[in-house]
Amino acid sequence: MGCARNCWLGNPSAHPEALADQTAAWLADYFTPTLHPVINATGVIIHTNLGRAPLSGAAQAAITAVGGHYNTLEYDLASGQRGSRTVHAEQVLRRVAGAEAAVVVNNNAAAMLLMLSGLCAGQEVLISRGQLVEIGGGFRIPDILRQSGAKLVEVGTTNRTHLRDYAQAIGPNTAAILVVHASNYQIIGFTSAPEMSELAELTRKHGLYLLYDQGSGALLDTAAYGLAHEPTVQEGLQVGADVVAFSGDKLVGGPQTGILVGRSDLIHTLKQHPLARAVRADKLALASLSATLEHYLKGEAEREIPIWRMMARPLADIRATAEAWAGHFTAAGLPATTRPDVSTVGGGSLPGTSLPSHVVAIPTSHPNQLAARLRQATPPIIGRIQSDHLLLDPRTVLLGQEGAGVG
Ligand SMILES: *Cc1c(COP(=O)(O)O)cnc(C)c1O
Repeated sequence: MGCARNCWLGNPSAHPEALADQTAAWLADYFTPTLHPVINATGVIIHTNLGRAPLSGAAQAAITAVGGHYNTLEYDLASGQRGSRTVHAEQVLRRVAGAEAAVVVNNNAAAMLLMLSGLCAGQEVLISRGQLVEIGGGFRIPDILRQSGAKLVEVGTTNRTHLRDYAQAIGPNTAAILVVHASNYQIIGFTSAPEMSELAELTRKHGLYLLYDQGSGALLDTAAYGLAHEPTVQEGLQVGADVVAFSGDKLVGGPQTGILVGRSDLIHTLKQHPLARAVRADKLALASLSATLEHYLKGEAEREIPIWRMMARPLADIRATAEAWAGHFTAAGLPATTRPDVSTVGGGSLPGTSLPSHVVAIPTSHPNQLAARLRQATPPIIGRIQSDHLLLDPRTVLLGQEGAGVG
């Protein structure tokens, strides 16, 4: 609001009321935080630019309770002595993932850095050329590997890597095989990669670690929602990965965290590593992650965790909402129709698969201008432009936000 300020400074004869209004507008703008809620009508469920997973009610309540009070972050009530922050999410993670041990850090990139630094620094890590990926925001798996002090050894080709490629690359200085799940891309056509179980057998035979960057943190089977099957964290452990790394704010549906689960001796080593302190999770993340994971333990994830509720939302329900919104827009002088379209999971999860949805379509010859207008609403509404229409997908609009800013 530089203008309001300049107008005020440059126009001393303005009416006092006008001055007061301009000052109020300028102050409101001055004190508006840049980080605030928006309405996600894009149809992308885990939208990285819009904060990934919105939290469940219980996860939000846990943040308020722990954040607003002194708490047991590093205090053992039984002994009255110093405790460890690593215990809080660990027990529930062990139960949900079926893991021996777990540790929570700042995000999955940090989890990978810790895992590779703690277990492979100064040694070689084998990775398929088909898995040397960029995870978004310009961050690349090979760079994280190098940063850890581990030496990257590429095996196979972009589209095909065989078990023998790994076997032939094993040398006296090899520490591990790293498998990176293709979470944000697909290699289709003439492709081949060994099964995780084959790699587990190979690593066991040679005394190496099998490390698995599962990425999305799927703890439920996405196939139950009409999506492709995303390999779950539990499956990774069952087929023999020694440590599995994943994000807490993708398909887990919790706060930004990175989670490592697996063998207790290895997790113990990682907890002792100096980097563990540098990348540790804060109390708000630990509180809300524990609350989120508890939903899985109680079998209520689909009902309580917003991203799973969105995936499970019936098409008829979405369609009814779209039709109601179209009515509101039309009544407000912005003629709108509805039509079938698709939502996506996003967040580097399940590329190439989508969920049938039903969207509001607002025809306009200036879609960018209309989109900008909706972004100025309170709260801002973020839609999707498709040629000469602005589309709003009700699937990703949270209960309680419906109706806001519309009409
Ligand atoms: C998302 C992702 C990461 C990075 O996780 P952050 O939580 O964003 O740090 C790493 N690997 C894979 C396979 C991913 O999908």
